[in-house]
Amino acid sequence: MTRLIFLGPPGAGKGTQAKVLSENCNVPHISTGDILRAAVKAKTELGQKAEGYMSAGKLVPDDLILDLVRERLGQEDTANGWLLDGFPRTVEQAEFLNKLLDEIGQSCEFVINLEVPDDVLVSRMLERGRADDKEEVIRTRLDVYRKETEPLIAFYRGRQQLKSVDGNQLMDAVSEALQKIVTCDISD
Ligand code: AMP
Repeated sequence: MTRLIFLGPPGAGKGTQAKVLSENCNVPHISTGDILRAAVKAKTELGQKAEGYMSAGKLVPDDLILDLVRERLGQEDTANGWLLDGFPRTVEQAEFLNKLLDEIGQSCEFVINLEVPDDVLVSRMLERGRADDKEEVIRTRLDVYRKETEPLIAFYRGRQQLKSVDGNQLMDAVSEALQKIVTCDISD
């Protein structure tokens, strides 16, 4: 059973690495950012409500996110596990997730923290060129990360769930380091 949370600042390569690992482990890659971007593109009610926060680099309010995560973790393709990318992003969201997992009789195996220095993050995001990758928005997203999300490192370290990985290496080296931590049964 592979159930993992990917933590790390914006631009750390969470999405890329989560995708590789989820394919290797045959579990769905659940990215709240991807779900929200798809909703914005499809102009759904969720997308319309979320768009302003996203383009400003701010967190979308919990009332838009929590039900979405509850619903997604209840889908059939999570039977072998899941890999969460971009959720939780605040201590409140982490507490919600703990309660939800208790309710559905699941637990998270590891929380992976991808460590990358700030200057590398900014240059990676500028290269990526996503809609919210403009310099000013990047600054806001890094501030939001420091204030809201970074406390999760101590939160999960305290629960003995945290594994830190150096994300400032070539992509394949990071993938390899992650694969070593995660003993997923690829025959699943
Ligand atoms: P990401 O792709 O994870 O960098 O997310 C892109 C944007 O989606 C973020 O800057 C937030 O505006 C929003 N978002 C994604 N996940 C969450 C979350 N767990 N809580 C609040 N907002 C989120």
